[in-house]
Amino acid sequence: MAETRTQSGGRPSLPMAGIPQPTREEVTKLPRVHISSHPVMAHKMTALRDKNTQPPEFYRLVKEIGALLAYEATLSLALEPAPIETPMAPMVGQRLAGGIGVTPILRAGLGLAEAFREVIPDIQVWHLGLRRDEHTLQAMEYYNRLPHKVDLQVAYAIDPMLATGGSAIDAINILKLRNIPRLSYVCIIAAPYGLLKLSQTHPDIDIYVAALDESLNDVGYIMPGLGDAGDRQFGTF
Ligand code: URA
Repeated sequence: MAETRTQSGGRPSLPMAGIPQPTREEVTKLPRVHISSHPVMAHKMTALRDKNTQPPEFYRLVKEIGALLAYEATLSLALEPAPIETPMAPMVGQRLAGGIGVTPILRAGLGLAEAFREVIPDIQVWHLGLRRDEHTLQAMEYYNRLPHKVDLQVAYAIDPMLATGGSAIDAINILKLRNIPRLSYVCIIAAPYGLLKLSQTHPDIDIYVAALDESLNDVGYIMPGLGDAGDRQFGTF
């Protein structure tokens, strides 16, 4: 556990200590927040959180949970008519009206991006590197491969953990500069604090969550959470 004294420069080493946090009940009914209630999701979440789950299995579970989230988050996408011929007869089918972009926040969002690609192979993946300062919890951009010209119906910012909301808010700010008609945020676990901050800062986006947890601890980790989502995916302990 980190110490309570301040770092050089006067920055607190326990950035969430003493900061009031909303309860789960206060955030579950927020508009445009979608918390999964699927039993298969709950089952997979338990295996994901278990501290005995090793990185190869953890990564496989991130992808399976990501595929379920991709399925839930694409429920209301726009379709357009698509005339085709089956081997039996002509018919008018449907296809997605406009492209889909996915922005994984590096590096923990990579497993979720792969899951989205498996569900919708022709998505565009735009990598965004945001690093969280451990003392201030502010997000800092260090990598950005978003194209300048975009023509999409929707873009999803994806990151497994919505903790304080700093990176999520920054990622949506960056995507908003691209004039995409619709933006959504997708995560595996949200803390009430980060969920409220993201929802209040960006009330015009949908937020999809596999599980809503209790709180953040003093250093900004989600409780009970799953630990560090990047380290657990990539084995960097
Ligand atoms: N990032 C993580 O990986 N885990 C947390 O609990 C919070 C942020």
